[in-house]
Amino acid sequence: MTTTPTSADQRGIADAAVAYAARGWAVFPLHTIRSGRCSCWRDCSHPAKHPITRHGLHDATTDPTAVAGWWARWPWANIAIATGTISGLVVIDIDPDHGGTESLDHLQSLMDSLPVTLTAATGGGGEHRFFTHPGPVAVRNTAGRLPGITESLPGVDLRGDGGYVVAAPSRHASGHAYRWVDPNVVPAPAPTWLRPSPRPVFPAGGRVLVVPHGGGSRYGLAALRREVAEVRAAQVGGRNDRLNRAAFSLGMLAAGGELDRTLVEAELLTAALEIGLPETEARASIRSGLSAGAREPRRRRHA
Ligand SMILES: [Zn+2]
Repeated sequence: MTTTPTSADQRGIADAAVAYAARGWAVFPLHTIRSGRCSCWRDCSHPAKHPITRHGLHDATTDPTAVAGWWARWPWANIAIATGTISGLVVIDIDPDHGGTESLDHLQSLMDSLPVTLTAATGGGGEHRFFTHPGPVAVRNTAGRLPGITESLPGVDLRGDGGYVVAAPSRHASGHAYRWVDPNVVPAPAPTWLRPSPRPVFPAGGRVLVVPHGGGSRYGLAALRREVAEVRAAQVGGRNDRLNRAAFSLGMLAAGGELDRTLVEAELLTAALEIGLPETEARASIRSGLSAGAREPRRRRHA
């Protein structure tokens, strides 16, 4: 059952937005769930998670006056915190619906332990773990993997530069609120394996976890880079179609042994999220493209 936010909840959310801005975290308003539906009132693929303002993420600010103005206008709005250097934050997003809980256990076993850090429980049963941005190098958004770990981690995404997370006490599509597990904990420094680094990471056990190369033949990897660039450059209206074609073409190469399918999937999903495609839609396009491509295996032709 979905509850309608009370005025007390609404005051809480406005105060929280201003407090985040005062703390140096850039925020902007998102739609919320009202009477069981996304407040955009459309048949929406991203309920309670997409921006209200025209420029969305590009409107994010740490100016408390501007933030107070937004929430005076939309007192019910959910809060987005922009991740990356703008707020000095990177966030690991754990989504149990895509295997995130198992991946987190696996990550924990690889690393012996994970640092204690500011953590939010999402209204959907997941977690956001906040870390300080390692700077000055940009941290890319990733999906199903983390920068310093070669193994795929389904359901574990990284929100870095150009990304955002929904913050407490926003309302999730489920009707439940996001909340801080312990609001007095501060974000820990980003662990080495979250930083963009071409060098191997040696965890406590001494096992090398990072192999910066691999994932396909030189020919396959060149095709992957090309297709990812095409997806990033695709125009609004043609992005999903371009993504599907890229998945098809790379799916043929994966089936021909030129590329690792998991790598293709992760790279395409990362690019899709970066250009703003909704995750569910992007995953579906990638999967259908890869499966269709797999029926026509292709290898590099030798003249
Ligand atoms: Zn909506």
